[in-house]
Amino acid sequence: MKTCIAALLLLVCGICFSQARPAGKPGHPAAYPTQGQLRAAIESAATLASAERLEVEIVDARKAGMTQPLLAAKLDLATATCRIFYNTKPEDGLTQYFETIAADDLPVLLTAMAVHEVAHCIEYREAYVHKRFDKVLPPGFRSESMTVQGYMGALKNGRLQTWGEALADIASVLYLKQAAPEHWLKLAAGVAGMRHELARKWPEHDTSPWLYRVIAADANLPRNQSLFEAAFQQRWRYRPGG
Ligand SMILES: [Zn+2]
Repeated sequence: MKTCIAALLLLVCGICFSQARPAGKPGHPAAYPTQGQLRAAIESAATLASAERLEVEIVDARKAGMTQPLLAAKLDLATATCRIFYNTKPEDGLTQYFETIAADDLPVLLTAMAVHEVAHCIEYREAYVHKRFDKVLPPGFRSESMTVQGYMGALKNGRLQTWGEALADIASVLYLKQAAPEHWLKLAAGVAGMRHELARKWPEHDTSPWLYRVIAADANLPRNQSLFEAAFQQRWRYRPGG
């Protein structure tokens, strides 16, 4: 049963970051990230995860027989470990996206993408391990009568997809503010703009209604609050129509 659940937790986040259209190339564009850059980004995100007592395992996606573009995450329920898979095989679309990124911005952006993956693991741990459904469900769900099976069903039919991506993207934006306080706004606006631009094609990934509000509120992290806890709170506070 646990294996079955874990299999369902596989997240494919390629389109999270891979389908942006080129919007003008910077003077020194980034190249497609190397294995070293991807591993370094995941290691940085793993430091944030360890503050949440979440262990991260870094896995070469191709060696694991997976074809995800760039990054994906899976929570292993047997060990409560977050496996983050990276893929170094360049893909069309993704290559073009990196050409729009300044080389200097690549490390912080890659780490923000890894933080996005960690946030997915944390959300699934809250649901499957801690059963804190009040924390992970959007409005319209009755958390007091929710079960693991019910949560799995809602995930499977897509009803939680935008809600889950919103948490992960908010965590990314909060990270950018912390890690690059001088120019986080440009980077965060880039993520929000990409989501908005792709809304017609992938409406379920359009987290821009949250992100614009988080950015407008200055993506602040309350003192003594973890980045991921802040993301949970801001997902609720800045929800569309909220
Ligand atoms: Zn995602």
